[in-house]
Amino acid sequence: MTRKQGNLFGEGFDAPEPWELASEEDRWGAGVVLDVPVDRVFSYLVPDALRDALRPGMRVRVPFGPGNRPHTGYCVRVGPAETSSRKLKSLDEVLDREPLLDAHMLELTRWIGERYLCGWGQVLNSVIPAGVKRGAGTREVKLYELAPGLAIDGLKLTRKQRQVIDVLVSHGGPMRGEALAETAGCGVAPIKSLEKKGILLPRNERQSSFEAEIGPVDRTPDLTLHLAQKKALNSILDAVRSGRDETILLHGVTGSGKTEVYIQAIREVVAFGRQALVLVPEISLTPQTIRRFRSRFDAVAVLHSHLSDAERHWHWQQIAEGRVSVIVGARSAIFAPAPRLGLIVIDEEHETSFKQDTTPRYHAREVARKRSELLKIPLILGTATPTLESWRRVEEGADTLISMPERVEGLPLPPVVVVDTKHDPEIGRGASIGRILRTAIRRALDEDGQVILFLNLRGFSPAMWCKACGESIRCASCDITLTWHKDRRKAVCHVCGGETDPPRFCPNCTHAGLRFVGTGTQRLEEEVRARFPGVKCLRMDSDSMRKPGSHDTALEAFRRGEVKILLGTQMIAKGLDFPNVTLVGVVDADTSLHQPDIRASERTFDLLAQVAGRTGRSQRGGRVYVQTSSPGEPAIVMAARHDYAGFARRELSHRREMDAPPFVCLTRVVLRGEREAEVQQTAADFCRQIRAAIEAGAHPVNLRGPAPAPVARLKKFWRFHFQLIADEFESIAALWREVRDQLPTSAGVDFVIDVDAINLR
Ligand code: ADP
Ligand code: ZN
Repeated sequence: MTRKQGNLFGEGFDAPEPWELASEEDRWGAGVVLDVPVDRVFSYLVPDALRDALRPGMRVRVPFGPGNRPHTGYCVRVGPAETSSRKLKSLDEVLDREPLLDAHMLELTRWIGERYLCGWGQVLNSVIPAGVKRGAGTREVKLYELAPGLAIDGLKLTRKQRQVIDVLVSHGGPMRGEALAETAGCGVAPIKSLEKKGILLPRNERQSSFEAEIGPVDRTPDLTLHLAQKKALNSILDAVRSGRDETILLHGVTGSGKTEVYIQAIREVVAFGRQALVLVPEISLTPQTIRRFRSRFDAVAVLHSHLSDAERHWHWQQIAEGRVSVIVGARSAIFAPAPRLGLIVIDEEHETSFKQDTTPRYHAREVARKRSELLKIPLILGTATPTLESWRRVEEGADTLISMPERVEGLPLPPVVVVDTKHDPEIGRGASIGRILRTAIRRALDEDGQVILFLNLRGFSPAMWCKACGESIRCASCDITLTWHKDRRKAVCHVCGGETDPPRFCPNCTHAGLRFVGTGTQRLEEEVRARFPGVKCLRMDSDSMRKPGSHDTALEAFRRGEVKILLGTQMIAKGLDFPNVTLVGVVDADTSLHQPDIRASERTFDLLAQVAGRTGRSQRGGRVYVQTSSPGEPAIVMAARHDYAGFARRELSHRREMDAPPFVCLTRVVLRGEREAEVQQTAADFCRQIRAAIEAGAHPVNLRGPAPAPVARLKKFWRFHFQLIADEFESIAALWREVRDQLPTSAGVDFVIDVDAINLR
């Protein structure tokens, strides 16, 4: 929620409760929400001429704010206008012919506004794709139909005109002019004259000029489930059949066959004419995943981020019309307008990309939970490494746990060797691949296996230091060290994306000469090529995979065995299923460990478990080597033992001691502006006000801060933050509702509020 200076909302807009629209007069009213950060529904009168056209879920044009400037809003309610002493304004225009959202989706978006402390209108504006709003990929077509109640036999008509009418009658519905003329074997003249006589009625309609593929591709049969899969499926089907809004945590190790369980559960849902929604992280929307669903079901819509507006709009309509049985997509697919949804699946539930980092800052898992509750349908959360939030709900008995602790076909999880890098002679000399890992790679290659090397830092070197004074080179706009990208010969800020030539002289001591410190994927690639000459190696990170489709091409080359060593960032850590990978090397497990973040340990465990999951996926077996300078770190030790439950137990007790999520609800407020002192002052004023409100109202909320944000400067903006912590979210919401309108404003400072913040930078 972003706040600007001044009174955005003009006078007299504290709306009456629109839910209680009641009237003695026969005036028609509408509740309208706007794309502004307030949780209010504004009331308008509906002119008689628009009364029939307007339904909830449509956009309207209304006068709003100072000067009554026209704004686009969303109608969320219609009914008799409330009796109000104040004179209501009338809405100007209805912008849609059909509602964009049904009652269920309106309820869901209203809840998101409340739960994430932003405006309902902001939520609506964000969840309806741009392509849907502007009707992308559609065009206006003119359709003809027969005027009702005509006695055709009595009319004096030419032969051609009669043919036109015959075609329309046998077609049984309105037709486009071109199609009509073509079928009747005539030109447009007979149609025009029939129109003039009032026998044919024209009507304009928007039709899609676009068609995408939702049909089946090379159908493959369902697999015969193993015992653990059968058990899991039965519990899910039990919930589906009894119409329970149960959340089921499917905790299955990598390769335990979770996807096959989802597929067969969906099979049942689809058999009853209902739809299923499968959310996956964007990163796993690979052809592999897509093929898996499209080869099993007749009508699958895949919503990925590369869709054009027109494609997105087309899919949206197909889904809304109930033509699609399975919808697979990333975070925002949770808003797919499926009218008969029967099941929601979230795969890789632990992925942080399910939390949106712009307003509305929703978590798709929580939205899914709400949707499942409203529709009385089950929600499946699948993962090998559940979030501690989800794990705790199971422990509390709120959600159901189903475990699949073993891989399919009796394949063992790969043994994990933790390698202490502190005393490795080669790493001491500046290499990134130590002696033990190097030997292991050699052996895997000799045995004709393939290798995955994982390093979660892109670029060549993550830091550049002055050789004389040791000062690090930072981004001019952000409080971040620049990464050296040798391929482009640029110093790049990984936060704002800004690129510069590396400075010739140290900005601190004017010495000429920089040291490139640390290893990113580019440097690792050089090292691998030097160490294993003649071995085909491929780097996958967001720099090398910029072109659309390059991701798929690269993975295909790896699948075919042309590439022997695949190295890269978390892009290669997840989801991939290549039976010939017999070795996974984690080049530096410390990168995710030493982050100033309460979830650093959890993320390290997740990453290691996921990366380890890429090997040992066939009878050939596989091994994992993890290089770290902290071999005793619990996240690493327990990941090496594949002991999620042990890790969760330990980490949860740590979080409990720290008063950290999931034991408390944490909401973060970040203020930013171009002048540091002003931001600092406003943050202090905010906190003073909030503290006073906490005391006055005895709110059970703990305020921590203000303090400079960990990234104190970002894209030229100074940042300060504070946290609101409470046992129950409701306490924070109540406090916020009370103070929100009284918070001091400052021309150069705006702020965002992030409920259940995950990104704490
Ligand atoms: P997960 O999603 O738990 O990582 P997958 O569903 O990807 O696991 O399954 C791992 C591999 O095992 C896949 O190649 C899949 O085709 C195969 N598989 C899954 N279930 C079965 C089964 N019942 N019989 C044979 N192979 C299976
Ligand atoms: Zn920057």
